Amino acid sequence: MITALRHPLVALFAAAFLWATSAAAQDRDAVVQYSTLDALKAGLFDGQITYGEMARYGDFGVGTFNGIDGEMLGFGGRFWRIREDGRPEAVTPETETPFAVVTFFDRDRVFALPQGLDFKALAERLTGELPSANTPVAVMIHGRFPKLTVRAPRPKAPPYPTLAEALKDEVVWHLEDQTGTLAGFWFPAWLGGINAPVWHLHFLSDDHSRGGHVLDLTTGEGEVALDPTPRLTIILPESAGFDGADLSGR
Ligand SMILES: [Zn+2]
Repeated sequence: MITALRHPLVALFAAAFLWATSAAAQDRDAVVQYSTLDALKAGLFDGQITYGEMARYGDFGVGTFNGIDGEMLGFGGRFWRIREDGRPEAVTPETETPFAVVTFFDRDRVFALPQGLDFKALAERLTGELPSANTPVAVMIHGRFPKLTVRAPRPKAPPYPTLAEALKDEVVWHLEDQTGTLAGFWFPAWLGGINAPVWHLHFLSDDHSRGGHVLDLTTGEGEVALDPTPRLTIILPESAGFDGADLSGR
């Protein structure tokens, strides 16, 4: 639920400050993000936080893995990894990530999935349902998807290229008649650089056989749940790579 505290609280915590962990674990309306989208775009593909630790901050989320070795989605307290072979596997707690976004998901606003839409039209419809143009939102959709285009990156080794360069040889699958869960986030434009004002969704089929980062889809019947998250904690990497990266935007 949205509380009286409407202003997103942007807190910068070092990853080692464990006192932040217990505080954040109590807060179901907080998004906790490791690193920033701009840092990932710049090629900072190695992080120092594990999914075991991220799980203390949320039971739901999206992310990637060191060396961008896969797409991550989590919901219901289980985290999944989809690598270049396209086969989902459970994430082990000691697995590290360079970029992940999690929250404890609450079904604050639930409505029927509009049918027959492609990804662009669905994104416009979801944006129209946003309770605020300025607050991050977690979204979980369960439904049937007559068509679904998903991808996973091919892993990279240092020295890392930029994200755009690294995704040039991504693996893309055109799936048909899938039933499963989409998990992801939308962030407001004012948080650009930290995240992005797009509907960033990852997919996992109900039978756990397929998944990936969603590039396109066609919606069938299903249900959408939105969870506005008016508080934000960013855990910055403590690494020479992050310290030395040019994130000035110049
Ligand atoms: Zn993704």
